[in-house]
Amino acid sequence: MSVIQTPVLIIGAGPAGVSTALFLAKKNIPCVLVEKESFPRDKICGDALSGKVVDILSKYDPNIMDLFAQNPNQVGSYGINFYSPNGKCLSVPFSLQYKELKRAPGFVSKRIHFDSFLIEEVRKHTCITLIEGAFVKEYEWNSEIKRVWVGDQLYEPQILIACDGANSIFQKQVKEETFELAISDSSYGLRAYYTNVKELHEDNFIELHFLPEILPGYFWIFPMNDGQANVGLGLGADIIKAKKLHLPALLEQILRLPQFKDRFKDASMIGSVKLHALPMGNKRRILSGDRYILAGDAAALIDPFTGEGIGNALISGMVAAQVIEEAILAQDFSAKRLSKYDELLYRRLSAELQLSTKLQSLVKYPSLFNFVVNKANKNKTLRDTISSMFEDVDIRSQFKNPIFYLKLLFN
Ligand SMILES: Cc1cc2nc3c(=O)[nH]c(=O)nc-3n(C[C@H](O)[C@H](O)[C@H](O)COP(=O)(O)OP(=O)(O)OC[C@H]3O[C@@H](n4cnc5c(N)ncnc54)[C@H](O)[C@@H]3O)c2cc1C
Repeated sequence: MSVIQTPVLIIGAGPAGVSTALFLAKKNIPCVLVEKESFPRDKICGDALSGKVVDILSKYDPNIMDLFAQNPNQVGSYGINFYSPNGKCLSVPFSLQYKELKRAPGFVSKRIHFDSFLIEEVRKHTCITLIEGAFVKEYEWNSEIKRVWVGDQLYEPQILIACDGANSIFQKQVKEETFELAISDSSYGLRAYYTNVKELHEDNFIELHFLPEILPGYFWIFPMNDGQANVGLGLGADIIKAKKLHLPALLEQILRLPQFKDRFKDASMIGSVKLHALPMGNKRRILSGDRYILAGDAAALIDPFTGEGIGNALISGMVAAQVIEEAILAQDFSAKRLSKYDELLYRRLSAELQLSTKLQSLVKYPSLFNFVVNKANKNKTLRDTISSMFEDVDIRSQFKNPIFYLKLLFN
């Protein structure tokens, strides 16, 4: 059996793996990208693509989002409707003058379509070798040997990028002892597609409902193309376990609540409900080592407040490509050199991940949430501040400052 030597081997062709490969291709660095499924393939997700996704993909190619906006399998989304535990709605556009924008600041697109769009981009690069339908399940990885079985073929990469998602086999086999993903670090999400849901927002504002029954988790309704909606809920794994919750039954219960009953009266589910884990970026972890880097969900980078993970997966791929380029130039793939990845990635993400971890713990207090929403509905400046928080982390940090709440109280 011959062993294939390759400089860069990426496991998993979701947003993290594709981003790594595309940013490497921009630098003319060849790589092998291995995926267990064949595209088009589904991925359980809320399918909301934030401004961060738009921003990072535009760094790869400034025109790519214009191309995506012409794709029939997406809708442009212009804002969020937050529903506080007492049922009041706070409507927050992603941009203050959103009606004048040339292109939507965010999108909703089924991952089966969005990920295929990204894979088409991958196929344009001859320096990316895409291998589909190859399940990587066995690593020969110790201090002397670093090899991986891709189907029946043994590969020996100079550097391996594990982008194999929330159930990363690399993380479990190779990195288990140091990664420390406790039950409180994960949430579970349930997703279902529906047709005929009534009263979706005309500008496709996504809806987040912070229902008292599931706090600090939330229920969502995201409008999609073809009159469909992505409907789901996300909850902490510790709460699910403690309350012995059955998420599909909980969804049915929610759809019978007075505020949803009529909206779902004529709606029908397409296919079945699906569940998947969301590893949260609620603490700093070691994400690289001798000849490897973890990216995306395999590195637990999901925003603990919003549940958004695609943007951070793309960022991690972009940063990985930069560190890989430098490592190849220096022919140094040691843990010390690759720790630059952790440093650069957390420099970029730490502030917002920490803030979101704090916000997520504040959501546990329904009265505080109700209070902010009530006030914001009466106060335009506060509404504008909340709008800006989607563009500016510094403004978002006001939410963890006690003075912010004092000012609210006396305003
Ligand atoms: C219910 C739910 C709702 C969500 N909603 C949103 C949302 O609305 N917006 C948002 O931004 N984020 C959302 N997320 C998070 C988002 O889905 C992830 O953060 C994102 O997909 C991470 O990208 P990734 O590339 O790291 O992993 P993935 O997208 O999971 O990609 C991993 C890839 O690796 C492949 N793979 C896995 N194991 C192997 C193996 N052993 N060998 C070969 N290939 C392998 C998989 O098939 C897959 O293609 C949601 C998550 C869930 C569960």
